[in-house]
Amino acid sequence: MIDLMCTYNSIKNLINKDFSFLLCPSCQGGVRFSRDCFPKFFGGEEILCNNCAKNTNLYHLFLNTLKNSHFFLNKIPIFIAGYEEAFFKFRIEENSIIQIRFEDYGIPTNSRIININYTSGGPSFIQPIEIHGNNVPLRRRGNVVNLYGVPIVNSEEEITETYSDINVSVIYSPVDVDDIARDSLMRAFYWLLSDEFPEMILSSVVSLEISFKRLCKKFHIDLNNVKDKDILKKINQEIALPLNIPPLNEEIVHTIRRLWGSRDNIAHKGILIDGYSRESAQKQISSAFFGFKYCEFLEKKANRSPTN
Ligand SMILES: [Zn+2]
Repeated sequence: MIDLMCTYNSIKNLINKDFSFLLCPSCQGGVRFSRDCFPKFFGGEEILCNNCAKNTNLYHLFLNTLKNSHFFLNKIPIFIAGYEEAFFKFRIEENSIIQIRFEDYGIPTNSRIININYTSGGPSFIQPIEIHGNNVPLRRRGNVVNLYGVPIVNSEEEITETYSDINVSVIYSPVDVDDIARDSLMRAFYWLLSDEFPEMILSSVVSLEISFKRLCKKFHIDLNNVKDKDILKKINQEIALPLNIPPLNEEIVHTIRRLWGSRDNIAHKGILIDGYSRESAQKQISSAFFGFKYCEFLEKKANRSPTN
C-alpha cells in the first residue's frame, strides 16, 4: 500500500496546472504536456513522441491516457480537464469520532467530491469508517465527513499506540457557477468515472451546446433553421475560417456527431445505442472536451484579433 501511495504521489507531483504528461499511443511512453499544447493542436501541429519518434496528436494522446488500465495514469486526463486534488493528513484515535471539514484543507465549499482515499500511516492500524444518518443517499457527497476510528488487528507485533495518522487524497471538481458549460463537462467526467454512460452523454451534449451557442452569439452567427448537430459546421465555416484557423480535427467532429446521435437515442427512445461500450464513452467525452476547448480557443483568438 505504501509503495502504491509513493508511486501515486510521484505521479501526482508531475501533474499540475502547467505541466503533465500523456501516454503515447504507439509506445505508451510519457509525452510532455503543457497548456500550450491545445493552441498548437488547434493550429494543426502534431506532437513528436521523444521515446519512439512517431508523430501523434493531442487528441490521441489524451484518449490513449484515458483508456489506460492503470488506475493512476488513467486519471491524468481528468486533471487536465479541470479536476483538482487535495492531499492532507489527520490523526484519528481508536474508537472515537472525528469530523473532517474539507474546506479546512483548501477544498472550496460546494465542490463536487469525486473520490476520497484514506490510507493509514500508522503507528496503529486504525481504519476510518464514515458515519451517516438513517438515510443514505446513493450519491451523497458533502463537504464534511464524520469518521469513526476502528482498530484493525493485522499484525502480530504488539502496538501500544491507540492512534493512526491518516493520509487523505480528495479528488474534486470545483463547481463553477458562472460557467454551466464547464460545470456540465466536469459532471460528464464524473459520470464516466461512475460508468453512468447515459448521464455522461447528456452532460457532454449540454456542455457542447452551451459552448457552441455562446460562441455563435458572440460572433453574431444566425442559427435560425440550423440543427443543433450542424452548429459546429457553421463554427468551422463562419468563425474559424475568417480567423485563419483550421477547422476542428475531422475525427473529433465525427465523434461529436456520434455523441449527438447517442444523445438523440436517449432523448427520443429512452435507451442507449446498442453495443455502446466504455470505449465509445471515452471517445465521445474526449471529443466533447476538445470541442469545448476549441470554442475557448476561438474566443481567445477573436479577442486578440484586431478586426474584433
Ligand atoms: Zn511513442
